[in-house]
Amino acid sequence: MFPTDPDVLVVGAGAAGIAAARALRDRGLSCVVLEGGARIGGRAFTCRTLGAPFDHGATWLHAAGRNPLTPFAGEAVDHDTLRERHFWLGDRWADQAECAAYREAEARFHAALAAAAAGPDRAVAEVIPRGGFWDETVAHGQGAQIQGMEVEHLSLHDVLASGLEGPNLLPREGVGSILLRLAEGLPIRLLARVERIRWGGPGVVAEGAFGCLAARAAIVTVSTGVLAAGGIRFDPPLPPALAQAIHDLPMALLNKFAFRCADRLGIPPFHSVRCRVSPARPRPMSFVMWPFGADHLFGFVGGSLAVELSREGPAALLAAAAEELRFIFGDPPLGQGLATDWGRDPLFLGSYSQARVGAAGARAVLGQPLAGGRLLFAGEATHTTMAGTIGGAFAAGQAAAALVRP
Ligand SMILES: Cc1cc2nc3c(=O)[nH]c(=O)nc-3n(C[C@H](O)[C@H](O)[C@H](O)COP(=O)(O)OP(=O)(O)OC[C@H]3O[C@@H](n4cnc5c(N)ncnc54)[C@H](O)[C@@H]3O)c2cc1C
Repeated sequence: MFPTDPDVLVVGAGAAGIAAARALRDRGLSCVVLEGGARIGGRAFTCRTLGAPFDHGATWLHAAGRNPLTPFAGEAVDHDTLRERHFWLGDRWADQAECAAYREAEARFHAALAAAAAGPDRAVAEVIPRGGFWDETVAHGQGAQIQGMEVEHLSLHDVLASGLEGPNLLPREGVGSILLRLAEGLPIRLLARVERIRWGGPGVVAEGAFGCLAARAAIVTVSTGVLAAGGIRFDPPLPPALAQAIHDLPMALLNKFAFRCADRLGIPPFHSVRCRVSPARPRPMSFVMWPFGADHLFGFVGGSLAVELSREGPAALLAAAAEELRFIFGDPPLGQGLATDWGRDPLFLGSYSQARVGAAGARAVLGQPLAGGRLLFAGEATHTTMAGTIGGAFAAGQAAAALVRP
């Protein structure tokens, strides 16, 4: 079933690995995809434990107008056209005027980033408005809850380069299901964790408990978290500039959770709910209610709170999420719940990469082919305009496949 003498080894069967394998097939090159885990899709994984699809990782196809996965989205909604935001102020919901003021504060946030674009790279926190009624809520939303890191640690240039503009498509079947479809028929070997790659000779050799496999080239799509932790040893070692690029692209953390709930809580499907940042809720989570009319809500926790809860495990995250829902809704009839653990899973070690302040150029360095196209890195971390996203990962896999020496 797998070629014994493939042209190319692809390491990892996430979006980038699947895209690379498809593009290699289109070029008439043979490959084997070596996937360390027991499933396909990587950071895109749809489960049906709650009855309806729930994505553990990638949720939306951002920037749908330029996202290479948009043609495969199937039935999907443009979430921004259906989503109304509800803000809990601690004792009441924000009224319409207050919600309009939130949107204005969000626009001021983005305008401040754009205005600072021409200057030197700085932490996002240094350029954004502070002190207004909604400013901390916007900063927390755009930082911890979207980027998986607080604005104090985010590179202005990197955030600007990886703009996550709309439309934001929410596919009914789940993003992970789309990837599974795209992986059909590809030579993917599961539970084949690569421990070492030798790339000093005329070709490459991947080694692990599965044995040894040689090819002319390798495309490595594992996260920068895995690379930084030494999850794969390279022989000879990677050049210093590349090792530095890996160091400069640490993983942010965003975890997700979901609960079944027997009551709609007065919130229509697709709407979102969040607390305003306050002393009682300094690092609020965000919730999306009843996607496609399902009887579950899902939510996000990102940044430093995600890191702290992750140390205690998914049960602690679920307990904290339930507590926040009680803060907002009193005593909602929560049923079965589940939570992700991306930060501790050794196959990921985080949710997506963020460039250190001053190091936005690291993505282009990581994406440079080595040894004339014998060793390539691809994945969300290598995309320079859609970093951190599944669309960026997919495009990066396609680009790497095009750079392999025939
Ligand atoms: C909670 C969360 C929410 C997100 N939300 C969105 C969103 O709404 N929209 C969006 O666009 N993006 C989102 N993302 C980001 C998106 O999921 C990722 O950017 C994308 O899926 C990364 O794909 P990849 O192919 O680069 O890496 P991966 O998906 O990580 O693929 C790499 C693969 O390599 C495997 N692997 C690791 N080590 C080894 C080894 N040693 N040997 C062999 N295989 C190995 C892994 O198991 C994995 O399958 C989210 C991510 C998370 C975690």
